[in-house]
Amino acid sequence: MNRFTVNPEILTQHVIPCALHGINPRTSMKPYDWTKLKKKYQQVQNMVCGACGTKVSHTPGDYLELHEEFQYDYENKKAYVETFVGLCKKCHLYIHSGYLTQLKLEGKISKEDFDMIMMRGDKILRDNDLVAQHLSGELLWAKDWELYYQGKKLN
Ligand SMILES: [Zn+2]
Ligand SMILES: [Zn+2]
Repeated sequence: MNRFTVNPEILTQHVIPCALHGINPRTSMKPYDWTKLKKKYQQVQNMVCGACGTKVSHTPGDYLELHEEFQYDYENKKAYVETFVGLCKKCHLYIHSGYLTQLKLEGKISKEDFDMIMMRGDKILRDNDLVAQHLSGELLWAKDWELYYQGKKLN
């Protein structure tokens, strides 16, 4: 990445197909490489969230997190990660609303925090005339999704 612009459209991304849960470049990378990549994005984005433009405080629990952007070929059920973006914790949890719901079910996040994150994300979309994408049940549950990163199949 050479240039950084805030783009709330990232928040329209639908949930990841179930077959690809837990499969991502991060888990196939060495922890050190992931940390290095994250630091690079934190630096380039100057700790500013790529979706909402908030500058994170960079104190414990409030870092710019690195998100893998998925591009989808729905017809062939192939997903590609070609780009990353640094996001604040709230935007990141909003994108991973499936994971966020899981946290709520397991009691790891309060209902108030869950509602706050969802309403906040919904408002950012509304304010920017954006609509959240949804995946059909058939595509959500399909077992034959493939994920590629840098031309390499990860699953
Ligand atoms: Zn944000
Ligand atoms: Zn992410």
